[in-house]
Amino acid sequence: MTYFDHNAAAPLHPVARHAWLEAADKFIANPSSPHRLGARADAALEDARARLAGLMGCQPHDIVWTSGATEANNQLMHHFARTLPPDATVCISAIEHPSVTESAAHYFGGRVRLIPVSRDGVVDLNWLAEELAQRRPGLVAVMAANNVTGVIQPWEQVVQLCRRREVPYFCDAVQWLGRESAAALGVCDFVSGCAHKVGGPRGIGFLKCPSQGRCQPLIFGGPQEEGRRAGTENVAGALALVAMLESRHGLLSEQEARRQLRDRFINRLIAELPGVEIVGASQRRLWNTVAALLPEADCRQRWVVKLDKMGVAVSTGSACSSGKEEPSPILLAMGYTPGQAGRVLRFSSGWETGEKDWEKLFDAIKHAAKELRQVALV
Ligand code: PLP
Repeated sequence: MTYFDHNAAAPLHPVARHAWLEAADKFIANPSSPHRLGARADAALEDARARLAGLMGCQPHDIVWTSGATEANNQLMHHFARTLPPDATVCISAIEHPSVTESAAHYFGGRVRLIPVSRDGVVDLNWLAEELAQRRPGLVAVMAANNVTGVIQPWEQVVQLCRRREVPYFCDAVQWLGRESAAALGVCDFVSGCAHKVGGPRGIGFLKCPSQGRCQPLIFGGPQEEGRRAGTENVAGALALVAMLESRHGLLSEQEARRQLRDRFINRLIAELPGVEIVGASQRRLWNTVAALLPEADCRQRWVVKLDKMGVAVSTGSACSSGKEEPSPILLAMGYTPGQAGRVLRFSSGWETGEKDWEKLFDAIKHAAKELRQVALV
């Protein structure tokens, strides 16, 4: 299979695999154990913490290890639900991942205010500035880059707006990390991320939160992570996550070549498949993501099945909503009709994707379009 679903999960990168297996063999003890092997595991975990903090430009103690980004995003909402006044509102963008929108709805219900986005999938900064001035919410959440469209959000400007009003800002950086530079993320008050979208293992993520204002735990038990997250830490996972991000950090310059491969595919798609629309086309997008509104067929599942049979794995959008025929809330928030949203496919590439893979994807789409057109004519 040719794999175009990295935004859901990426295959393990050799760098991460090596770090992961080596650490699993080497650090066999529980980092909390009192013997020397425990101390060794603890030192390795702290080394990973310091290296991740170094990449993002924050303090090591700002990092809390979690099982992934869903947990981190839930912990963030849980923390604010416990610490904000009972009438405080929270402002989240209308295109956040369900782990943000659903946990916000769970904890804040009618006190969630959605930041609208343009047709191209970018948050409305004027709306946010007005909201910050009028209501002064207890939290603002705007992701760094969207998981369905790849559209990069003006999060550095959001940081400035929030700072002026002294409102905490949370950035879900899951799709950004390992694809764009992590360096500036340290300025965000809260950041979440995970390893498995860019070649790290499943089951490891983090929440960056200010170490001075104690982040409330979501999971209770032992005193790990300075009481901010109970449970034996995933030392091998943390080391693999960091090794992966460090290796990507050194290769950010290769992104331009990868972007060109993606753009060549887009240009061919537009030229040879009349009616195709690239979602968020006019905006800066992640180099690996293409969300395309396809002309044929009433249902994207048919596309997915057809392409799957031809040996290409693609997605209808967020993995959390696949399998259901409901249109993506992200696309609806952007102003697409349910019918249009039902025809959007997401192609997301990664570290192992080469020119031949993009060509195979293009040929498969062309072939599938022909077949679906014939079915429609019958
Ligand atoms: N945030 C974004 C933007 C995502 O794309 C995802 C996963 O698709 C998550 C959060 C959840 O991450 P995890 O799979 O680590 O729980």
